[in-house]
Amino acid sequence: MKKLGFGTMRLPLLDANDPKSIDIEQFKKMTDMFIERGFIYFDTAYPYHEETSEIAVREALAKRYPRESFLLADKMPISRVKSADDYPRFFNEQLAKCGVEYFDYYLLHNVGRDRYADTEKFGGFEFIRKIKEEGKAKNIGFSFHDDAETLDMILTAHPEVDFVQLQINYLDWDGAVAQSGKCYEVALKHGKKVTVMEPVKGGTLAKLPEEAMNLFNEFYMGEEVKPTPASLAIRYVASLDNVRFVLSGMSDLSQLEDNTSYMQDFEPLTDDERELINKITAVLKKTIKIPCTNCRYCTEVCPMNIAIPDYFGLLNLYAVTGQKTGMYYNRYSMNHGKASECIHCGQCEGICPQHIAIRDYLEEFAELYEG
Ligand code: SF4
Ligand code: SF4
Repeated sequence: MKKLGFGTMRLPLLDANDPKSIDIEQFKKMTDMFIERGFIYFDTAYPYHEETSEIAVREALAKRYPRESFLLADKMPISRVKSADDYPRFFNEQLAKCGVEYFDYYLLHNVGRDRYADTEKFGGFEFIRKIKEEGKAKNIGFSFHDDAETLDMILTAHPEVDFVQLQINYLDWDGAVAQSGKCYEVALKHGKKVTVMEPVKGGTLAKLPEEAMNLFNEFYMGEEVKPTPASLAIRYVASLDNVRFVLSGMSDLSQLEDNTSYMQDFEPLTDDERELINKITAVLKKTIKIPCTNCRYCTEVCPMNIAIPDYFGLLNLYAVTGQKTGMYYNRYSMNHGKASECIHCGQCEGICPQHIAIRDYLEEFAELYEG
């Protein structure tokens, strides 16, 4: 089975400022091309696109293809679960929104040290075990953005899970926060298959800064079909033995065309390509200031509707180029709170899978753009 999975967190939009305005017609074309090329794995979640991704999956996929012809993964929004009754309520809502009778893969979404106690208290693992017994979930697992020690603790307590979904990419492999490499080793130790998320780190590894891009271009000079930086990042994780699926959040047909082209007859990385990755990593580590992956979990909880990841994108750009782009800031802040309007409630930091000191960076950003 092919390893590439279609992540539906960054679908094409009709209005770039409205995450709910999914371009269904384009998504249908992307779905058709994905399936025509022999790929079958789709991944959605309750909060994606402000709770409309699951509906889009129903329209583009579940209503148009026989159920047995594709694999669908969905995730329980454990951050919103406040009692044991919420589990069946959310799950049934998700089945209805996706227009299916069962999920092939079902996960507890973003389990980490902070949420683990509540997940146990409200019977989260018990719930997914039960839906598996009932045939409503074929495989059960959880997605995870915390440290390797916590992962080891959870997998020891829950040997019943079939797989884990981890953030793995070459930049985070030795990272102190995401700990991609250590988490991968823990999953291996427990004999769990891995689904990879964020293989291009929210697009960071798809658009390399100039110095890294020069290394990339030099390496592939003279190639008949030149690969893209995203392809290098995705092939890096797909080359790991224990990886079952690699999710890519594709936003248009050209990205899908590119990803499916090299993942159709997948070639693992060569030793020379691994060496290239080491050099690119060294360059990136010098330049990336905030490790934001644009997952937008923080914007869902921010009472001031601050466009946190968009502002961080501008701050990262400033760190690399030294240039401010006021035009973008004006556009973002037109429909969102300004960075200086942060009330320091800390809710964003409680949910951020990358453990970013959001309040500090917003202050820095406000000084730069509003000061
Ligand atoms: S700390 Fe600031 S940015 Fe974070 S959720 Fe609260 S108001 Fe929003
Ligand atoms: S700041 Fe954290 S939660 Fe917000 S988009 Fe970035 S990585 Fe996601």
